[in-house]
Amino acid sequence: TAHTTIDPAAGDIVTPATRAAPVVLRVTRLSKSYGDTPVLHDINLDVRRAETLCLIGPSGSGKSTLLKCLNLLEKPQAGEIRLGETCLTAPHADVDAARARIGMVFQHFNLFPHMSVERNVTVALTSVKGMDREQARALARRHLDEVGLAAFAGQRPGRLSGGQQQRVAIARALAMEPELMLFDEATSALDPELVKDVLAVMRDLASGGMTMAVVTHEMGFAREAADRVAFMCDGRIAEIGTPDRIFERADHPRLRQFLSQVL
Ligand code: ADP
Ligand code: MG
Repeated sequence: TAHTTIDPAAGDIVTPATRAAPVVLRVTRLSKSYGDTPVLHDINLDVRRAETLCLIGPSGSGKSTLLKCLNLLEKPQAGEIRLGETCLTAPHADVDAARARIGMVFQHFNLFPHMSVERNVTVALTSVKGMDREQARALARRHLDEVGLAAFAGQRPGRLSGGQQQRVAIARALAMEPELMLFDEATSALDPELVKDVLAVMRDLASGGMTMAVVTHEMGFAREAADRVAFMCDGRIAEIGTPDRIFERADHPRLRQFLSQVL
């Protein structure tokens, strides 16, 4: 549209909603191989404060690998990742400190089964952040309330539905007060009737100003909640733009083909 400009630093579409916001995450010329197999090629990407970026694309296109590189669970062979002023890919970067600034929610939520819901949320606060137990409990209650589960604080995770457990995992990530939240198919392992409560929490976060990069197959969520949508294909960002541009005016043949299969 007339209001869309190209950001020369990132080769990236910037919408009016996000143009003025500072860059939280900047990925520059990122490449990643597993052994001899290249999986990500020369990725450039910015995520600005309070922006929700959805990553869509076929299975095997490199979406999970990209998120893992962002969280330093995988090491890229080339390129740079900056979180605010910190270069995460610098040789002596403090990986643990960087990870504490990024919340990650996976398909499988991996709650500790023998701990209460509340303790699942507080354990990293007391052990990693060194917070005292009462302060951690107050923070846990606040974030459990945010995901609609304050009443379940004393229960074991096994008593909760999959959707509720995933919301606990979200609360656990939020309690660390991350600058950026990454979601990798957070609803893909859930029974269909449990998906909508998790998506509702993610929508609330997006509209509440959280900065998020969300890998999802939920095209309705991407269309409604994303500020921008990136279409990944063969390890590249093949298209990036507003949901309107991606969903209504797709011109990339692989994107059109992908959308015709999933919509
Ligand atoms: P997506 O999340 O889009 O489905 P992935 O990032 O999981 O894609 O995978 C991208 C490519 O990398 C695929 O070809 C996949 O088989 C390969 N791959 C993913 N993880 C590994 C790994 N740990 N070792 C080797 N190859 C991998
Ligand atoms: Mg994946």
